[in-house]
Amino acid sequence: MAKILIVSELNQSSLPKSVTIEILGKCKGHQIDVAFVGAGPSEAGSKMLAEYGAQNILVLKSDKLSSYSCEGYSAAVKEVAKSGGYHYIFTGATAAGKDYFPRLSAELQTGLASDVTNFTWEGDKFFGTRPFFAGKCLAKVEMQGSGPHLISIRPNALGMPTEKAAAAGAGKVSDTAVNVSEVKALVKSIIKAASSKVDLTEANVIVSGGRAMKNAENFKILDELADVIGATVGASRAAVDSGFAPHAMQVGQTGKTVSPSLYIACGISGSIQHLAGMRTSKVIVAVNTDPEAPIFTRADYGIVGDLFKIVPILTKEFKALLGK
Ligand SMILES: Cc1cc2nc3c(=O)[nH]c(=O)nc-3n(C[C@H](O)[C@H](O)[C@H](O)COP(=O)(O)OP(=O)(O)OC[C@H]3O[C@@H](n4cnc5c(N)ncnc54)[C@H](O)[C@@H]3O)c2cc1C
Repeated sequence: MAKILIVSELNQSSLPKSVTIEILGKCKGHQIDVAFVGAGPSEAGSKMLAEYGAQNILVLKSDKLSSYSCEGYSAAVKEVAKSGGYHYIFTGATAAGKDYFPRLSAELQTGLASDVTNFTWEGDKFFGTRPFFAGKCLAKVEMQGSGPHLISIRPNALGMPTEKAAAAGAGKVSDTAVNVSEVKALVKSIIKAASSKVDLTEANVIVSGGRAMKNAENFKILDELADVIGATVGASRAAVDSGFAPHAMQVGQTGKTVSPSLYIACGISGSIQHLAGMRTSKVIVAVNTDPEAPIFTRADYGIVGDLFKIVPILTKEFKALLGK
């Protein structure tokens, strides 16, 4: 049985981000602790973690951890990594995970398998799969040396476990004081996005618009569809560079990497750089006037047509279907 630490983050409801539950599901049968940096989960969050097999829930505390910093998070996790005797330390390949895990890996002098999209166990040995060359190739990764081995998991890629752990973990929450020395780069303030929608990287359904949207105003038709089906709206880089959408909405190699259950691409050609960010979506639907558009080679369902006609029809039909 491997000893595993999952470093989790909280969502807006103080529940663990869903990638934590995805990891817990795949690590079933091992001894698993979950750590939070700065603040811990709500009671419902701790209960959920226990149901999926978490033994100890550690809340790493220091007055230097009131807001995110790469140095602070790395120092805090380093301390428990050493004292806890963990074989593997997982986190989500979120904005924070992508930022501080490489630093932690350097500080612990250990390997990091980043942005892993699947993994299996052979006994206590981890075998992972991670995309590279913008998702064109998949590498099989195996960790060598004594560890602790670091692994970051792409959110939504593993899928939620279909059942809870056979034996619930203790889910015992305890504060753990960690020694964080001076943090040189401090976050002074965080400006939250105006949207109350789920972040793109965690969204289960995404509707994205490309250059064909023509202007920012036209994104309203995507917002309307998204509201009906509970989706988050994304954009191609051409749409972002043209000023139709903010960079936070960009999907792709230089934007966000997403793995929703459903990705609807509207007026997006399907460049390699866009595909790099969304090719692990479970079902892809493309709406494009050009039947030769490369997106159709990746799409599960294609609609050849004008998005300005198709999207309002989709919105209307989904409204009727869902009784909204
Ligand atoms: C280093 C680098 C990094 C990059 N990173 C990214 C990235 O992160 N994300 C990203 O998206 N791109 C990225 N790009 C840019 C990428 O190469 C493409 O230029 C970009 O993805 C094209 O965006 P698009 O599909 O919206 O526009 P276009 O390629 O112009 O495609 C528009 C599509 O809309 C269709 N269309 C036109 N009118 C309609 C209509 N009325 N209804 C339906 N369809 C219509 C057209 O047939 C066409 O297929 C990057 C490029 C480089 C070099």
